[in-house]
Amino acid sequence: MADIETILSKNEKISHETLRANADQIDQARRFPRENLQVLGEADVLGLLIPTQYGGAGAGIAEMSQVLDIQAQNCASTAMVTLMHYCATAVIAAKASDALKRQILPACARGEHISTLAFSETGSGGHFYMPVSEVGQNGGHKTLSATKSFVTSAGEANSYVVSARKAGAAAPTETNLYVIANDAQGFSTKGRFEGLGLTGNASAPMSLEEVAIDDATRLGEEGTGFQTMLDVVLPYFQIGVASVSVGLAKAAQQLILGRMSARKYEHAGGAALASIPRVQYMAAEITLAVNSGQAFLQETVRKVLAAHPAAMLDVLGVKVAAADACLAAVSRAMTLGGGWAFGKRGGLERIFRDAQAAAVMAPSSDVLKDFIGKASLGLPLF
Ligand SMILES: Cc1cc2nc3c(=O)[nH]c(=O)nc-3n(C[C@H](O)[C@H](O)[C@H](O)COP(=O)(O)OP(=O)(O)OC[C@H]3O[C@@H](n4cnc5c(N)ncnc54)[C@H](O)[C@@H]3O)c2cc1C
Repeated sequence: MADIETILSKNEKISHETLRANADQIDQARRFPRENLQVLGEADVLGLLIPTQYGGAGAGIAEMSQVLDIQAQNCASTAMVTLMHYCATAVIAAKASDALKRQILPACARGEHISTLAFSETGSGGHFYMPVSEVGQNGGHKTLSATKSFVTSAGEANSYVVSARKAGAAAPTETNLYVIANDAQGFSTKGRFEGLGLTGNASAPMSLEEVAIDDATRLGEEGTGFQTMLDVVLPYFQIGVASVSVGLAKAAQQLILGRMSARKYEHAGGAALASIPRVQYMAAEITLAVNSGQAFLQETVRKVLAAHPAAMLDVLGVKVAAADACLAAVSRAMTLGGGWAFGKRGGLERIFRDAQAAAVMAPSSDVLKDFIGKASLGLPLF
């Protein structure tokens, strides 16, 4: 395993070269970015968060954010697959038994095993931390039947971190997390979601029919899944989605600033679009949006690493703030790009579609504002 600095610099090179070169084709063919993952795996990028004792680089949330930002500048579908893999490996590293870690993490570190989160269910939608599925029994064995919606890397990942209520749960927050292998009997995916954006991330519903589960594949103690989602998964997920949003905003900014100088008007003696004061004003709005998203992200990472008392409030807010900043920057860029942006030629159209996902992905921006309001007022979140 390479050291962290080497992995970060390899990720940057691969993102700007391989991911950028493949992005339009992956988007248009709605194809899982298998070749990108192969190269990222060989460069140890997929083992970034895995503890060194299991063959990984032992990096943390700050390095994850850097990796995803640069990937998203070039191919947000690949960044989203990487993010969900990181969330899954982080929670496995934090909560699995040593035997389960030894079974999964070294292969993840070698780039041979992709994992993901399968939390959301149609029964609870955006309130994904409250699954309606419940652990059952069949002939003395524990089983799980569930319909999971919108799973990134569905049918492509080697394993899935799945949530369910514990058997006989008295409250929807009494949940367990399990690792389920892609070849488990009773596991299947149900067609593609065919999303507006992030078309390469293989988002699809997943069906679990009486899949055998046991305590050895449970992450953490019985009934602690909800707390694990809050303590472990939420910071990685929120900061990760925010990093993807910031990366997308930067990509839009870069494209449109170049376009504003390149677009010349014959009727005005060859003056560039960039020479118009009102257009300069809009360029300022894009710059402010990108910088504010980036600043909120950096501040959240700083607070999380420092275990700051206000870290959780920023973790809740960062995904909303970055999504809003990204949507503001990308929308302005689309307007300034005119017909060039409206068509597929410029690359902005894909960024515009990809940028819509962050606000919808659970917890959605609206649900998060509900939490942030309660937290700001000192009220309990649940
Ligand atoms: C690209 C993409 C990738 C995804 N990848 C994964 C994955 O890997 N794993 C996974 O488990 N899930 C994944 N999801 C699913 C995601 O996390 C959500 O569960 C899903 O987007 C919620 O969809 P829904 O239509 O059921 O929302 P609904 O529950 O129907 O909510 C619709 C909208 O209602 C509003 N709303 C709901 N409740 C409230 C409230 N209390 N206050 C204010 N407004 C509210 C929100 O604006 C919300 O967006 C992914 C989703 C997308 C779009």
